[in-house]
Amino acid sequence: MRGVGNLYSLEFFPPRSDDGTAKLRAARAQLAQLKPAFCSVTFGAGGSTREGTLATVLEIIGEGMPAAPHLSCIGGTRESLREVLAHYRAHGIRHLVALRGDLPSGMADAGEFRYASDLVSFIRVETGDWFHIEVACYPEYHPQARSPEEDLDHFERKVRAGADSAITQYFYNRDAYWSFIDACAARGLTIPIVPGVMPILSASRLARFSDACGAEIPRWIRRRLESFGDDTPSVRAFGLDVVTEMCAKLLDEGAPGLHFYTLNTAGLTSTIWQRLGI
Ligand SMILES: Cc1cc2nc3c(=O)[nH]c(=O)nc-3n(C[C@H](O)[C@H](O)[C@H](O)COP(=O)(O)OP(=O)(O)OC[C@H]3O[C@@H](n4cnc5c(N)ncnc54)[C@H](O)[C@@H]3O)c2cc1C
Repeated sequence: MRGVGNLYSLEFFPPRSDDGTAKLRAARAQLAQLKPAFCSVTFGAGGSTREGTLATVLEIIGEGMPAAPHLSCIGGTRESLREVLAHYRAHGIRHLVALRGDLPSGMADAGEFRYASDLVSFIRVETGDWFHIEVACYPEYHPQARSPEEDLDHFERKVRAGADSAITQYFYNRDAYWSFIDACAARGLTIPIVPGVMPILSASRLARFSDACGAEIPRWIRRRLESFGDDTPSVRAFGLDVVTEMCAKLLDEGAPGLHFYTLNTAGLTSTIWQRLGI
């Protein structure tokens, strides 16, 4: 195993159709061979995927893999979140990814929680040490952050509220990750901070995602991707090389693991994983 840690995990989203469910099951069957430390499942802000998240998590556990539901607090009430936590506990789930989430368009009421740190505090008060709590962080800073320092203050607040580890937004620039790690270390924040990895499935989809979440695609990568036009095999081959090399360097430099945003497909993630020899 490369690197200093073994925090290798996979992320899925709850499928929205029977076809999506079948495709995700097939992807998981392939990815299970990688023996991830855990699989996480996203949660639609405002509770829109609440049942789908739990159903997918239970399927994963039934397949013999550890699973961690995401839980976002925006639009939620103390009572609704208490209920979700009780549900997860009743199913023996002990690992969560705690997030603020983004208010879905058309939903005006932000609910009783404003920030992920409020949710982390609430989970600790309600359930003590039952859950291992992961939180999100942003090496290139959250798009709504007023300044990098304030964003770090807010990340620190989540850690001090009781987060055990963190997963980053994806990035293609290792310097941003290490600069963030150094800034955290200077504040005495030493929890594992695992790089989130986005394989490159489609250039246009990546550009859209990245604009929305504030992840930068370095110019040289963007220009190369643009040069392939609709030639999807070339986009994916180039993406595989770029992402695998970045991951290999991150691990060599001491990253504690990798968290793959699989987009519910197996091919790219398992190729990168196998090329890395993890
Ligand atoms: C690993 C990962 C998994 C994700 N999974 C999901 C998912 O399943 N479902 C989903 O809907 N979204 C998900 N997201 C997206 C996430 O919900 C959004 O990025 C959201 O905008 C911020 O969530 P957060 O938990 O980082 O929020 P927070 O940590 O609350 O931060 C949000 C913003 O508020 C600021 N802030 C925080 N605290 C304060 C304060 N006290 N005062 C003033 N400003 C403050 C921060 O600087 C930041 O700009 C995920 C993101 C990542 C990186």
